[in-house]
Amino acid sequence: MAVTKRAARPARAPARERARPILGRLAKAYPDWGPTLEFRTPLDLLVATILAAQARDERINEVTRTLFQKYRSAPDYVRAPQATLEKEIRSTGFFRQKAKAIKGATQGIVERFGGEVPRDMDGLTSLHGVGRKTASIVLGAAFGVPAIAVDRHVERVATRLGLALKGKDGVERGLAALYPKRDWYKVTWTFVLHGRRTCTPTPACPRCPVLELCPYPKKTR
Ligand code: SF4
Repeated sequence: MAVTKRAARPARAPARERARPILGRLAKAYPDWGPTLEFRTPLDLLVATILAAQARDERINEVTRTLFQKYRSAPDYVRAPQATLEKEIRSTGFFRQKAKAIKGATQGIVERFGGEVPRDMDGLTSLHGVGRKTASIVLGAAFGVPAIAVDRHVERVATRLGLALKGKDGVERGLAALYPKRDWYKVTWTFVLHGRRTCTPTPACPRCPVLELCPYPKKTR
């Protein structure tokens, strides 16, 4: 059978041709894709995502299992003395900044959104300490609103795979242009898991499920 040049070198195919098979393979390789932070409500997820900065999700889940029993609404966080909250989240690291961010965000939710976490990007990013990545995680996972959350894993994977230009804004724009909105949630969480488990800073290319589709020039052997 004749083998075309493109079939022989799929890594050189344009990003729009590789995007779909890449997503399909990653979803198959990581069937457990999805948020690893535990939450019951949008408020829980917002707080957990703020806490997760510079910390492992497992540690955050250990802390929030107790925290979320005590704090069930935005006013609960607003009423809590800063020092008490700091003590309760101390083991997540950077606890002073995180307590300040949680109190600032929940204050905004109470004062400007009637105590409910806003369901749109502008509302979420207007809250103290809430950036685009955190807002996208909450939108996608808590509200089912299409959003691509770009953390360091998504950025690394997307740029190595040649699907987007470097930089968080460029990656979000690039992936949003390649994938339909219905896939944005899946893109976020399959890319996160791929970046955590295989396409790590020193990638494990020989066991990568998208090896032949990847144009990264510094693949490991
Ligand atoms: S082949 Fe290597 S660099 Fe490319 S996506 Fe896979 S692990 Fe990452």
